[in-house]
Amino acid sequence: MPNFVDPSPPGQCIFCRIVSGEIPAAKVYEDALTIAFMDIGQVNPGHVLVASKRHAVTLLDLTTEECAAVMQTAQRIAQAIGREFDPPGLTLLQANGPEGGQTVFHFHMHVVPRYAEDGVGLLWPRKEPPVAVLQDYAARLRDKLGT
Ligand code: 5GP
Ligand code: ZN
Repeated sequence: MPNFVDPSPPGQCIFCRIVSGEIPAAKVYEDALTIAFMDIGQVNPGHVLVASKRHAVTLLDLTTEECAAVMQTAQRIAQAIGREFDPPGLTLLQANGPEGGQTVFHFHMHVVPRYAEDGVGLLWPRKEPPVAVLQDYAARLRDKLGT
């Protein structure tokens, strides 16, 4: 994960300024709700960010329409990456909050071409609790699902 953190206030953040054209970006695609451009860091060649055009900080701040649009754009970008770079793997990564690994606080999803032993990683500390604990978590979440 990058260690740069964008401290800009809402509406003046780096990605809002890319959306408005105030600062340059290598743009791949845009539609009414989303924009896709090359990540400046390029963990692998072809690494693209898909961002909401509207300033929203996390997944929870998106409208359902924006959520759907982001995933549709991510799929289009993934198809283009497949045609041009033909990587054997592809990872979607979407970070929320500093603890979730987010460093630019304007919603975006990474579309990352992947290769064997490319050094990209996310630790995954499995806890493997008993089934009863899983059932308890599921029941609690079912109870909190909105309509
Ligand atoms: P996050 O850590 O929030 O999931 O990802 C933020 C990403 O934004 C990083 O991968 C970083 O390389 C990228 N980024 C930061 N500033 C800029 C910029 O000014 N232009 C572009 N194209 N990417 C940026
Ligand atoms: Zn913004």
